Amino acid sequence: MLVISCIKQVPDTTQVKIDPVTNTLVREGIPFIVNPYDTHALEESLNLKERYGLRAVALSMGPPNAEATLRKACALGVDEAILLSDRCFGGADTLATSKVLSAAIERLGAEEEVGIVFCGKQTIDGDTAQVGPGIATRLRFTQLTLVDRIESLDLERKVIRVRRKLEGRHEVVEAPLPVMITVVRELNRPRYPTVPMRLVAQETEVKVWDNAVLKLDVETVGLKGSPTWVSKIFSPERDQGEIIGDGVNDPAGTADLLIDKLLSKDMLAI
Ligand SMILES: Cc1cc2nc3c(=O)[nH]c(=O)nc-3n(C[C@H](O)[C@H](O)[C@H](O)COP(=O)(O)OP(=O)(O)OC[C@H]3O[C@@H](n4cnc5c(N)ncnc54)[C@H](O)[C@@H]3O)c2cc1C
Repeated sequence: MLVISCIKQVPDTTQVKIDPVTNTLVREGIPFIVNPYDTHALEESLNLKERYGLRAVALSMGPPNAEATLRKACALGVDEAILLSDRCFGGADTLATSKVLSAAIERLGAEEEVGIVFCGKQTIDGDTAQVGPGIATRLRFTQLTLVDRIESLDLERKVIRVRRKLEGRHEVVEAPLPVMITVVRELNRPRYPTVPMRLVAQETEVKVWDNAVLKLDVETVGLKGSPTWVSKIFSPERDQGEIIGDGVNDPAGTADLLIDKLLSKDMLAI
């Protein structure tokens, strides 16, 4: 049985530039990392591989340089790493992204049973938290979001029991496989690759599946297949902040100054 983790390559900076013509990210010359939540998705797939003997596959949709992101997954111990890359996938919104990822999962599922698909709760760039549920909807998998603990996995009954982290409380739910799970940071502590594993990973093949493999209608993927497009990305202008008093050496006096300031701006009712 397969356990799949979807990992996205994201900019390791807030200084992103947007191509004024396509409104998509300028990727040249900026450092990339594995999306932080996805490091927990990857880690959990490796834990289930070790505990239940599942086969762990890492999937990423991105430009050719996203191969580096998948090589990190190889260094951690996944059995297979597949980059979904084609110019026609470029500029995708979440609908088009989930289409490509689902097609790849379906293709893997034609060869070997897919039990669990892990996604991060959200990415640090698009930040929509939409791709995971999009994959589940397309594949008709049960979706379990915001999971911070895997309580149990019964491969015979094909049932999983998880705990979800909700606002101020938790919820424990049980569901039949296959499932799509989005994970939060509290689920686990990602491991670090050992030096020997890194060396092995440099020689490990990262497969590349383009649209000749997935055979998707080009009108339904990438920029063409995206009903939403980013019209403009900009950092909101902020008024210059003001330092009031000295909170370290004179907290009480600073508090008084702050109250006076708020009162003078009618922002405080006493
Ligand atoms: C600043 C910015 C704003 C954007 N706003 C929107 C928007 O409002 N609506 C919209 O539709 N698109 C938007 N996009 C485009 C969007 O980022 C892409 O569609 C992206 O591929 C998926 O959306 P996301 O980053 O929000 O992912 P999320 O839905 O937040 O990702 C959740 C999880 O899905 C998996 N995943 C996501 N993308 C990939 C991938 N490429 N490969 C493998 N796994 C993946 C990961 O496990 C990830 O943790 C935006 C992009 C940027 C840079």
